[in-house]
Amino acid sequence: MQLLDGKVLSEQILTEIAGEVEAIKKAGGKIPHLAAVLVGNDGASQTYVNSKVKNCERVGFKSTLIQRESSTTEAELLAIVRQLNNDADIDGFIVQLPLPSHISEKLITDSISPDKDVDGFHPFNVGKLALGLETFVSATPNGVMEMLKRYKIETAGKNCVVIGRSNIVGSPMAMLLSKPNKCEVIANNGYTADATVTICHSRTQNLKEITSKADILVVAIGKAEFVTADMVKDGAVVVDVGIHRIPDETKKSGFRLVGDVKFDEVAPKTSYITPVPGGVGLMTICSLLQNTLKAGKK
Ligand code: NAD
Repeated sequence: MQLLDGKVLSEQILTEIAGEVEAIKKAGGKIPHLAAVLVGNDGASQTYVNSKVKNCERVGFKSTLIQRESSTTEAELLAIVRQLNNDADIDGFIVQLPLPSHISEKLITDSISPDKDVDGFHPFNVGKLALGLETFVSATPNGVMEMLKRYKIETAGKNCVVIGRSNIVGSPMAMLLSKPNKCEVIANNGYTADATVTICHSRTQNLKEITSKADILVVAIGKAEFVTADMVKDGAVVVDVGIHRIPDETKKSGFRLVGDVKFDEVAPKTSYITPVPGGVGLMTICSLLQNTLKAGKK
C-alpha cells in the first residue's frame, strides 16, 4: 500500500504556483487576486476559508476576506456578489457554502460571474465540463484528478466507482473520469480519464457488490468511516473525499478527523489510498488556487 500524499503534492503545486506568480511579477503583470465571502460563524467553514486565505499569501496572491453575520440577508449577499463581479481587481471569488438557511445557495451561485467562478459551481461552467470543454472545474474533483495524474495512476479503461452524486463532488468527479482523453478539459490538464464509471448514490442497491469490483474507488458519501474492507477489491486505488470531526477526548482539540473510509482496515488491501487528513482536502485548496491563477491569466 502506498499513500496518495496530499501534503507532498500540495507542497509541489503551491511551489509551482508561487513560481508562476514570481514570473508574473517580474514581467510587470497583474498579481492574481482571490476574494472569499464567509457568512455566519460555522467552525468548519471558518477553518476552510482561513486556510484558503493563508495559502493565497503563501503563493503570493492578493486575497480579500469578506465576513458577514449569519443574519445577513439574501439581498445583502447578492449586493456583495455583484460588487465582486464588477471589481476589476478581483480575478476570482468564492462564497463559502453552506449558507444560512434563509439564503438560497442556488441563487447566489447563479449570480457569480462565470468568469470569476473559481469554485466551478456556476451552471455555465458545469455545462462546459459536461461537454468536455475548458472551464473552471469544481475544486475537489479536479484535485483528485491532479492526484491521480501526479502518482501516474492509469484511469483509461479502468473500472471506476464513485460513491456520491452531489453537484460539487460526486457528479463532476464521474464526469471527469469518464471523459475522452482528447477533450479539452482532460487534455489541457494532462489527465488521462477514459475510465468506465459507475455512480452510486443513496438509492443504489447492492453497493458492496459494485464497490468491490472497482479498480479505482472514489468515496464522497459524507458518512464517517462508511467504507469497510469487505467493500474494497484487493489492490484497488481508494480516494477518500470525506472529512468528519469525531469527538476524541485524547486530543487537545477534543476531536479527530476521519474520512468516509475506515482507513485502518481498508488501507492494507489497497495499492494506493488517500489519508484523512493530509489527502484530498489539501488538493482541493490547490485546485482553487490553480483556478484563480487561470482566471488571472484571462
Ligand atoms: P453530499 O451529502 O452532498 O452527498 C453525499 C452523496 O452520498 C449523495 O449524492 C448521496 O446520494 C450519496 N449517498 C448517501 N447515502 C448513500 C448510501 N447509503 N449509498 C450510496 N450513496 C449514498 O456530500 P458532498 O458535498 O458530496 O461531500 C461528501 C463528503 O466529502 C463529505 O464528507 C464532505 O464533508 C466531504 N468534502 C470534502 C471536501 C474536501 O476538500 N476534502 C470537499 C467537499 C466535500
